[in-house]
Amino acid sequence: MIRKRIFFIAILIILIVFSVFVFDQIKVGHDNGSNNATEITHEIIGNDSTGSVEVIRNLGNPDGQKMAYVVGVHPLENDTHKTFLKIFKSMNNLNCCYDVYIINVSEDFSKYGELLPDDQPGRQTGQDLALKYVYPEIVNGSYKFVADIHAHGGAYGEHNTFVFSPVEGSSGESYGRIVSNNTQNISYYDPQFTTSGPYLTIPLNEKGIPAIYFEENSFISQSIKDAHMLELIKSIDSLKIS
Ligand SMILES: [Zn+2]
Repeated sequence: MIRKRIFFIAILIILIVFSVFVFDQIKVGHDNGSNNATEITHEIIGNDSTGSVEVIRNLGNPDGQKMAYVVGVHPLENDTHKTFLKIFKSMNNLNCCYDVYIINVSEDFSKYGELLPDDQPGRQTGQDLALKYVYPEIVNGSYKFVADIHAHGGAYGEHNTFVFSPVEGSSGESYGRIVSNNTQNISYYDPQFTTSGPYLTIPLNEKGIPAIYFEENSFISQSIKDAHMLELIKSIDSLKIS
């Protein structure tokens, strides 16, 4: 009788352990095939009358080096922000772990091709939201690399699609050149002047966090923008940051 009871309890324990294991596997499955249970989370880190800032955390490989993307600093350039989010969400088997910061300016704005020049009030608002909410999170977030996604209306001559760090000689420049070298269609070109640099990428580089701009010509076709964005994401994902 006692032996039967011990046997029954042993079976029960095995069943419990097994079901915990299965439950864990199901949870992992929901995390895009990652091999631990770090969850993808959405969080609003800033919200005021001018707009809000959202961060999506732990995209890609939760065990990989920690990287950040920022979209929305210049709201008029939203075609590349949308392109980035669309292409990034379609990616599988990324090497790195990504947090994506999304700045949403509440003021009225349009996009390139509908409204020129880019002198809308939302431009400064996006920069202010970046400095107020995104910058402190990234400085304190042990990120290895940051990319800030922009678009332009053709202001850079033959330079349509490029990356650069606004701080010459920075680690951002070194890694930016590697990002460019690992692509076919993204050049390294420093236009020597940025309006948003002082609100994000310049202070980040000065703090030793490599930060680059990605710039895309807003007037090229969507399919080419998609292809360039894919090149950017893959190239950044292959970076080995020391
Ligand atoms: Zn911009």
